Amino acid sequence: MVRTLKNYINGQWVDSHTSKTLDVVNPATEEVIAKVPLSTAEDTHTAIQVAQEAFESWKKVAVPVRGRYFFKLQNLLVDHKKELARLITIENGKALSESLGEVQRGIENVENAASITNLMMGDSISTGATDIEITNYRYPIGVVGGITPFNFPMMVPFWIFPMALATGNTVVLKPSEKAPMLMEKVVELVEEAGFPKGVLNVVYGANDVVNTLLSDPLVKGISFVGSKNVGEYVYQTGTQNLKRVQALTGAKNHVIVLKDANIDSAVKNIIGGAFGSAGERCMSASVIVLEDAIADEFLAKFKKAAQEIKIGNGLDDGVFLGPVIRKDAQERTFNYIQKGIDEGAKLVLDGRQNLPQKGYFVGPTIFDNVTTDMTIWKEEMFAPVTCVIRVPDIKAAVSLADQSEFANGACLFTSNASAIRYFRENIDAGMLGINLGVPAPLAWFSFSGWKNSFFGDLHANGKDSVEFYTHRKVVTARYAESEL
Ligand code: NAD
Repeated sequence: MVRTLKNYINGQWVDSHTSKTLDVVNPATEEVIAKVPLSTAEDTHTAIQVAQEAFESWKKVAVPVRGRYFFKLQNLLVDHKKELARLITIENGKALSESLGEVQRGIENVENAASITNLMMGDSISTGATDIEITNYRYPIGVVGGITPFNFPMMVPFWIFPMALATGNTVVLKPSEKAPMLMEKVVELVEEAGFPKGVLNVVYGANDVVNTLLSDPLVKGISFVGSKNVGEYVYQTGTQNLKRVQALTGAKNHVIVLKDANIDSAVKNIIGGAFGSAGERCMSASVIVLEDAIADEFLAKFKKAAQEIKIGNGLDDGVFLGPVIRKDAQERTFNYIQKGIDEGAKLVLDGRQNLPQKGYFVGPTIFDNVTTDMTIWKEEMFAPVTCVIRVPDIKAAVSLADQSEFANGACLFTSNASAIRYFRENIDAGMLGINLGVPAPLAWFSFSGWKNSFFGDLHANGKDSVEFYTHRKVVTARYAESEL
């Protein structure tokens, strides 16, 4: 008998009112490791109500005191780093080294939240007019709903709840139903760190939980991370219900390699970007744009490096490429590969062959001669499949990338400073990498996708997150010297 996860509401583990569950499956072994409840609107309203009650006292806790909880949590997370990473690999499939990296990124968000004393400061002017001073104070907005994807079960929830709590809000988080177990462990550590009951609540499930978060008037802000279509729906529905919403969505990141780049270094970095986490990253290297002069040399080295990748269970030594999340994701990827062939791209490396018997594996797959009218270029495949396009120069490369509906990240490999400047000034993407693989910015910078990679105004992380989770009072006060 596998156990069914419980929701965490008001500091208690409670059963959902639903009888509907989904299997949580280890994608490397196909073993069912738990059941996740598809919690109801009633479960969600209860959690929201609890969060609202907790907000009334949490918002009054002194800012440095709120910060100290995060110092404790940081220590606990560091102590449990390996355990957390193993959990990520078991439920998500990515290699253990990547899971360790993900835990580290989560910890950095907690460190950022611990520095809330500075981030929460407003500003003031002592003499805005004669005898008048004006001061700007920040206040939390209330209950925040967090909705997160399967591909970073730790890092993405940590983009949301630490900073939302540190700024004085309370949170109802709905983790991905495909990778829900990591948050269970995190909640134990949050409890051990001494956070008051009700400030962080976790409700497992899918659409019903999301729709309740989007409609309950007590929820003031929604932080969503997931696919484009769902993000667009969440943004439209949430804002229609007069909430502030940030929705970080899909991607198709272009990585450009020019003829003056260090090719070996580019190959090494782009292998990680294209096939790390089985391509299930919003910052994966999904399109490689090669300057004609080095295209053959790059591709030969890239293919060789891809063939050397060890595929298997992410817990095993030396494994770099784990499975994709579910059988349907594997089948969808195989369909994309077939579509690429049918639409005329050249399959240089076929990831459908020589796969382990069990598990939802897809090997590294490379297409050459891809064009912008092909499905494999237009859509986010979210798989270890990368598209190569050849171009005459940097201008053609940037113009090609700018045709994509997505604009999360983009990279350039070159030693030419003018090309770097041209790229920076002209590419439509919010997170750029120069001579490194697609870089997810550290916690104190915002995660700044553009175009259909983001819906909203204020991004996650960095100063944006403080703005998103607070509103202000501007106090204009007269202290008349003449009345002394
Ligand atoms: P998803 O959109 O399927 O799910 C995300 C969340 O939305 C989950 O919690 C899910 O339960 C919920 N959801 C799904 N369908 C819903 C519906 N119809 N109504 C209401 N809620 C719904 O995304 P996923 O497959 O879990 O994650 C992969 C996607 O996330 C990719 O597109 C990836 O690019 C994106 N992503 C983006 C970023 C970023 O920063 N831009 C980061 C990580 C992942």
